[in-house]
Amino acid sequence: MPMTILSLLFTLIIIITYSSALKQLITQKQISEIKTDFINNMTHEFKTPIATINLALDAIKNPKIIDDKEKVQKYLQMIKDENKRMHAQVENVLRISKLERNELEIKKEPHQINDFIQEAIDHVSLILEDRGGEVQTHFNATRNTVLLNDVHFTNVLVNILDNAMKYSMEKPVITISTENIKDFVVIKIQDNGIGMSKAAQKKVFEKFFREHTGDLHNVKGHGLGLAYVKQIVDDHNGQVFVESEKGKGSTFIIKLPLIN
Ligand code: ADP
Repeated sequence: MPMTILSLLFTLIIIITYSSALKQLITQKQISEIKTDFINNMTHEFKTPIATINLALDAIKNPKIIDDKEKVQKYLQMIKDENKRMHAQVENVLRISKLERNELEIKKEPHQINDFIQEAIDHVSLILEDRGGEVQTHFNATRNTVLLNDVHFTNVLVNILDNAMKYSMEKPVITISTENIKDFVVIKIQDNGIGMSKAAQKKVFEKFFREHTGDLHNVKGHGLGLAYVKQIVDDHNGQVFVESEKGKGSTFIIKLPLIN
């Protein structure tokens, strides 16, 4: 998504947010801070779908694939799905009438978490394939109905999966499991990546925190993805933690309340 569209979106949001309260004075500095924050967040959210669309387009252009109708259909469907997700994201933002995070109300509906996770995996499958990686799933939760906001919770899972691929020196192997503990469903997303220090584990959900990645160079980011993850999980009355060992990989654990 080009920056100009993001800037335009931002302007719209500022108008929507503040038109009913024109008398309220916002300083130039506040606007500038909100704008930077917003653009960083949105840019982060659009990175994975854009990468998937690019890979799908490259695949379709491949002379070996162009005559395989089934594969072309599969890649076209992926492009459509990613496009839909970005569109939903934009719509969501436009509907937001208050920018302050803790005042955002996001609509949630019942979902089967195991199916929901599988769909999130589909969003990153092309990138994972491209990196020669794989995902293993162990859906052990038998009670798995939870209240989720479709777009935001997909982003939560995609952010964690995206990091699992990004912060890895090897071919990423990601293991995802679900289980029931009391009236919760516990989701574990384990990677074989570079891991993180104890100090980083404490700070990783804070805004703008990034750890030095050692030999893994050029990993781009703003340190906002996991802050967003925590914000959304909190909003779902859930909890998110990380367990990690440097050089051995990380496991992100999300606990969500069941609704039946
Ligand atoms: P970003 O990836 O844009 O820097 P995040 O908020 O998603 O922002 O992550 C914050 C930091 O946490 C990263 O910069 C990285 O140092 C660390 N991190 C996140 N996920 C992982 C992971 N799966 N393995 C190792 N380190 C990670």
